[in-house]
Amino acid sequence: MFKGILIEKNNDHYSVSIRSLEDSELPEGDVTIDVSYSTLNYKDGLAITGKSPVVRRFPMVPGIDLVGTVTQSDSERFVVGDQVLLNGFGVGENHWGGLAEKARLNSDWLLKLPTGLSAKQAMAIGTAGYTAMLSVIALERHGITPEKGDVLVTGANGGVGSFAIKLLSKLGYRVIASTGRPEEGEYLKALGAAEIINRNTLSEAGRPMGKERWIAAVDSVGSHTLANICAGLKYGGIVTACGLAQGMDFPASVAPFILRGVTLAGIDSVYRPIADREEAWARLANLLTDADLGSIGTEIGLDKVLTTAEDLIAGKIRGRIMVNLQH
Ligand code: NDP
Repeated sequence: MFKGILIEKNNDHYSVSIRSLEDSELPEGDVTIDVSYSTLNYKDGLAITGKSPVVRRFPMVPGIDLVGTVTQSDSERFVVGDQVLLNGFGVGENHWGGLAEKARLNSDWLLKLPTGLSAKQAMAIGTAGYTAMLSVIALERHGITPEKGDVLVTGANGGVGSFAIKLLSKLGYRVIASTGRPEEGEYLKALGAAEIINRNTLSEAGRPMGKERWIAAVDSVGSHTLANICAGLKYGGIVTACGLAQGMDFPASVAPFILRGVTLAGIDSVYRPIADREEAWARLANLLTDADLGSIGTEIGLDKVLTTAEDLIAGKIRGRIMVNLQH
């Protein structure tokens, strides 16, 4: 028997509880793992609160990220005792995920835990940090260097936003943080933000093109915010889009694309090929120190997951939540 969060749906009744589960209930897979840490991402919050149809199959153990130790393996890539990391691949959506003490997974989805990171540190980073790193790599591939201008980060207090600020500032960029919580200014400055703007200045319908303000942006918010970011990009600039915290719509004009040659780069972390994941995680392990991760993360046990998920969706959580499964 092991403990986990279980989401069930019976006759349109959606329920979530902490349950005792049997090993025989685990889904198919060639690797079985004792999960040491998972985390709470925005998507996990949506799944647990039922606010959005994230879960595709019931019953479901949520949790799109996990780190654990292999206890049984039919894979040639992993042996018993290996520490492994998983982000995405539909886990927590259509295959049982990380918010349980055990998981059975497809080995094609797994990475070895990167050298230099503990299980807890990897989950302080989680999909949010890994997505922020993919976004920063996209800016670099576009040729954005610190001397070219400011980089805007939206959803600044969120997981993706916090890591984007931290990573960009460590790489020498001047970061403008956009937030609805200006009272968290000290936290954002400690992460490395040089300037803070109120997200209200970006969240309403704006003009097709405005003053050129930033050479690049990392956006996790979408909707009018993303449209206004495009309108404020400098000539040849780029914005990465990974999220929809404000909305899934994109009420924009083509003007910045055809008159300023700006680029909109979509970022998907879920089905990203393994080679890109390895690159992103190696960069994260290299760039982030213990002190960086300590300032971003808060640890909870399985018993606090349901209430914390409500707070996350209500926008009350700052930074990252790590869930200790061996509590
Ligand atoms: P968090 O909940 O940690 O952060 C979201 C942040 O967005 C909040 O902290 C808040 O920041 C801001 N925000 C919330 N509501 C609004 C609103 N109505 N208007 C404007 N800003 C708002 O989420 P994550 O950082 O984990 O994820 C952010 C987004 O990115 C989500 O939509 C998530 O689904 C998506 N995502 C996508 C991935 C992909 O592979 N494409 C991977 C990871 C995440 P503040 O208080 O500072 O304003």
